[in-house]
Amino acid sequence: MTARILIVDDILSNIKLLEARLNAEYFDVLTATSGPQALTICEQGLADIVLLDVMMPGMDGFEVCRRLKSDISTAHIPVVMVTALDQPSDRVRGLEAGADDFLTKPVDEIALIARVRSLARLKVVLDELRARASTSAALGLPDPLAHVLSDKCDGGRILVIDDRESSSERIVGALAAKHKMSVEKAPQEALFRGAEGDWDLFIVSLGLKDYDGLRLCSQVRSLERTRHLPLLMIADIEDRTRVLRGLDLGVNDFLMRPIDRNELVARVRTQLRRKRYADALRDNLKASIEMAVVDPLTGLNNRRYLESHLASLLDVASRRGQAVSFMILDIDHFKSVNDTWGHAAGDEVLKGFAARCKRVVRQVDLLCRFGGEEFVVVMPDTPMATAAVIAERLRAAVQGEGFQIGDGQKAIPVTVSIGLAETGGSPDPDNLFRRADRALYRSKSSGRNRVTAAAA
Ligand code: GH3
Ligand code: MG
Ligand code: MG
Repeated sequence: MTARILIVDDILSNIKLLEARLNAEYFDVLTATSGPQALTICEQGLADIVLLDVMMPGMDGFEVCRRLKSDISTAHIPVVMVTALDQPSDRVRGLEAGADDFLTKPVDEIALIARVRSLARLKVVLDELRARASTSAALGLPDPLAHVLSDKCDGGRILVIDDRESSSERIVGALAAKHKMSVEKAPQEALFRGAEGDWDLFIVSLGLKDYDGLRLCSQVRSLERTRHLPLLMIADIEDRTRVLRGLDLGVNDFLMRPIDRNELVARVRTQLRRKRYADALRDNLKASIEMAVVDPLTGLNNRRYLESHLASLLDVASRRGQAVSFMILDIDHFKSVNDTWGHAAGDEVLKGFAARCKRVVRQVDLLCRFGGEEFVVVMPDTPMATAAVIAERLRAAVQGEGFQIGDGQKAIPVTVSIGLAETGGSPDPDNLFRRADRALYRSKSSGRNRVTAAAA
């Protein structure tokens, strides 16, 4: 895994030191000696991760971080603050500014590589999601990042896994005002609760009496239901190597005891923000996949959906020796509906038509808008005789009552012509479609508002 790391520091020797260490790990390195220069590089999309010095003349690191995190084009880039001031208050100030992590000078080599690696890994996942969800913007879905930036990230559902009461009480005490807190003393139980419940964060103590907290973290990572669940470790100073091991296992963050209350609050918020962002991206992705197979006007499945399912549906039916019937419906003289009442009224008729068809066809039937004013119904395990009854019912339902337009002031009379065909043991979708289409043509040419079945 390679990532482009931007090192921002006003002192050249500091840059050289970090650059050498990162180069040795095969990361690509960019450098900037001032805040404004760093912002420019990030706006151009050149950096994957930013290592940001706090003390710089002019614009300090806090300000650079704040600007990066409030600009929608750079807010997703992870920022690690590098500070000589090993003060909790500085760490909190940085987290308030939106920083994702901290390193203190002199920078510990193992911590540096572990942090950068873990952030690079996270960024690969988020980038992948962003790329796949990018079509969602074109489809008019809200930008997940804009949504998350304005979210205070309160109300997180958090499980603390700690068997020492004094410790878990302190953690809950710091977070309970803003979040929904639960405590679990038994690690195995935590795993069950994780798989069953809807959690935003696990806080895992590495000081459990009879259980290795890291094992729990690794189990959480390997279960499908909890794969994406943020994990925060609570460790003692002597747990240093286990913390690094945890980061390698995919644990998102850690805190050292004694726990600083403000730092805990801020780190939890960072994890919740990341999770909400990733969740929003995943939801968008799902919605855009749905939109690709659903017709927005009628809510029916579209032609793409039909074409991707028909072949396998016919294949299964043919292997089971079942008949499949196929119906094409085409609204009669629909052009004149548009011409007389306007395109918007035409849309309303299409919606009403779809809704009426939906009521008439059976649950197992696949109803699609094939395009324009043409619809298709696929009827699994249905011989022609049954299909003809359903088709006639559809035709009558359409003719039976006019379609309301406007505020229900007017009802437009509409009729439909239908062509029917049945698979004659042949699972070929094209053949089925052609025969139904020819039958439809005969319905049209013999006067419309009727059902014609193709010869077997
Ligand atoms: P026929 O009885 O022979 O089927 O005549 P028709 O007028 O229904 O058929 P034709 O194919 O000539 O016209 C279909 C019309 O459907 C033309 C097109 O503008 C209209 N149409 C297609 N899609 C939509 C839509 O989404 N909304 C509206 N309002 N009209 C549509
Ligand atoms: Mg047509
Ligand atoms: Mg038509």
